[in-house]
Amino acid sequence: MPATAIVWLRRDLRIGDNPALHRAVARGERPVPLYVHSPGEEEPWSPGAASRWWLHYSLTSLDRQLRALGSGLILARGDSLATLRAAAQALGAEAVYWNRLYDPTLVARDSRIKQALRGEGLRCESLKANVLFEPWELATGTREPYRVFTAFWRKAAAQLGQGPPLSAPTALPPLPEGLLSLRMDALGLLPRIPWDGGLAATWDPGEPAALARLETFVDQAVAGYAQDRDLPGVVGTSRLSPHLHLGEVSPRQVLHAVADRVPGGLAGVAEPFVREIGWREFAHHLLYHFPRTPEEPLDPRFSAFPWRIGGAEALLAAWQRGHTGIPLVDAGMRELWHTGWMHNRERMVVASLLTKHLRLPWQAGARWFWDTLVDADLAANTLGWQWSAGCGADAAPYFRVFNPVRQGERFDPRGDYVRRWCPELAALPDRWVHQPWAAPEPIRQTAGVTLGRDYPTPIVDLAEARREALTAWDQQKGVVG
Ligand code: FAD
Repeated sequence: MPATAIVWLRRDLRIGDNPALHRAVARGERPVPLYVHSPGEEEPWSPGAASRWWLHYSLTSLDRQLRALGSGLILARGDSLATLRAAAQALGAEAVYWNRLYDPTLVARDSRIKQALRGEGLRCESLKANVLFEPWELATGTREPYRVFTAFWRKAAAQLGQGPPLSAPTALPPLPEGLLSLRMDALGLLPRIPWDGGLAATWDPGEPAALARLETFVDQAVAGYAQDRDLPGVVGTSRLSPHLHLGEVSPRQVLHAVADRVPGGLAGVAEPFVREIGWREFAHHLLYHFPRTPEEPLDPRFSAFPWRIGGAEALLAAWQRGHTGIPLVDAGMRELWHTGWMHNRERMVVASLLTKHLRLPWQAGARWFWDTLVDADLAANTLGWQWSAGCGADAAPYFRVFNPVRQGERFDPRGDYVRRWCPELAALPDRWVHQPWAAPEPIRQTAGVTLGRDYPTPIVDLAEARREALTAWDQQKGVVG
């Protein structure tokens, strides 16, 4: 009778290139895949509504895959340590394997669990699976964590050849008797009031869809990535982010597919895409070494920044709902609400408007993204928001304020993206579609756009708000010295 090993699955919802699952199989043990739903342990960053939606379908898909191999997924909810302990006892398991995560609260929890279970005689092993480099594997010449992406990436890019991904098992032993799984619905992941139609129409969670998306992107789109990646109206990026977040595909699988199938491998035409995978690594590096950054600016000068006080709630609500009256911003926020995803260029534009023109704290934006993004990821979201607000590592300086009209003219020149998400502006000529307030009245009338009725009047004057933001920045610089 082979020994039983619990494979504690978390954000590694795949059977291919899964080191924890592979370890049990390679040792000839009987793996028991277990998922424990314990959102309280992730506080204050337990998964938001869109992420929970994705998780529901990703777990469903993984269970289906495991069943096809002869096994299945055991679902539980509650305290992770107590659940693992009870499962190990019920199964007479000898080992627990899992793949590492790097969010500060989870690092602390997992260390505690490892210590406790080892103390009870269980073999516990955690493995590298979800990043190319553990956050402690790369350091500056003075053994400090990196704060600048170019230096980080120079070091990382020289070491990308990491061997092929682990192959997926072709069959697994059946689950043992005596350990009951919860039904998927019992995890309560789906919304009670259905608002998720747009998500379902846009996405297909789970490993098979992730691998198919990777394959299509690598074969058809990666060569055009450098020129298309900044155009929100074009499907020019991989859209792998939610799949990568929940580990339906590993970064090693992504790089392997590129190295294997794209002319020039990692350093050729696909290099700009590979570099973005590098940003994902950098984000994990920063979160691990600066664990307070989800709440606090990395640049301490921003702790005292004079964010707006009066009228903040109404402005935040208009931004959230895509009713700012600034088309490129509204298009992005509506895409986010409808699909749970937003193009990277748009994320930067809407974040700049929130933190600079509206002078609202970046944490408020990060929270909204957290609840609405299907790819909400503590490392990447924190990096993205601190970068946009000018207070993070390697950040865009606060005084560099994106002009959403110029951004629209440059990256959505024919207005396709804006027209898709703000159909009330569809009949405006290209020249005015990014600034309907500036269009001559007869042109607006012909296009059927009355500001304040069909489409909002802008909630800020862009030029004046920019000046105010720069004044706030100057005052603060004066305070800090
Ligand atoms: P591609 O361009 O195809 O890139 C491939 C992969 O590289 C992505 O799937 C992602 O895993 C990674 N990646 C790309 N850009 C970045 C980046 N700047 N930082 C870290 N990883 C990156 N990304 C998230 O995955 N989750 C978030 O919660 C998140 N929040 C963001 C918030 C803001 C304010 C900003 C400006 C960016 C944020 N990003 C976040 C980064 C980026 O916008 C998304 O990763 C990207 O848009 C996902 O689309 P894609 O998969 O088509 O990316």
